[in-house]
Amino acid sequence: MGMGKKGSKLAADDLKELLECTYFDKKELQQWYRDFMKDCPSGVLQKEEFQTIYKQFFPNGDPSKFANFVFNVFDANKDGYISFREFITALSITSRGSLEEKLDWAFSLYDLDNDGYITKEEMVNIVDAIYSMVGNLIDLPEEEDTPLKRVEKIFAQMDVNKDGRLTKDEFREGSKSDPWIVEALSAPHR
Ligand code: CA
Ligand code: CA
Repeated sequence: MGMGKKGSKLAADDLKELLECTYFDKKELQQWYRDFMKDCPSGVLQKEEFQTIYKQFFPNGDPSKFANFVFNVFDANKDGYISFREFITALSITSRGSLEEKLDWAFSLYDLDNDGYITKEEMVNIVDAIYSMVGNLIDLPEEEDTPLKRVEKIFAQMDVNKDGRLTKDEFREGSKSDPWIVEALSAPHR
């Protein structure tokens, strides 16, 4: 794909491909591309810029840890940068994807080592990052006022076979009754 080149208009073949693999229309894609190139003239979004975006949405907390985790999911080819294609594909899923797609996306965020299971430790990392991000915006009930308590509660509900880790199926089923898990992820794009 010829992305990353200078210019404020998507090339015809890139546009065609993105029309097929995202939920955006032609006009929206061109607008997102213009905005992306304006904010990232180098053609890629860097980790620091990504954190800055989150900081605008969560000025009272520290979203840097959470932004890092999300960055790693956006960065599909793991080269340390978010290309426009990676950006718009992730945005398409987190903003307009089906519940199943959002759950798959969320799973890959929580499954830090990408081994197909979410351990308690992995989930504590993410929940801890979410708690730091929202800061004192929310008043948590005593039984979930630490990331570990929250995760124990989630696992008590989702870890059906009690082996201390969540498979994608357990995660999918459980998230349907605890939408917080997925909702927290798309917050900055609303
Ligand atoms: Ca990348
Ligand atoms: Ca894992």
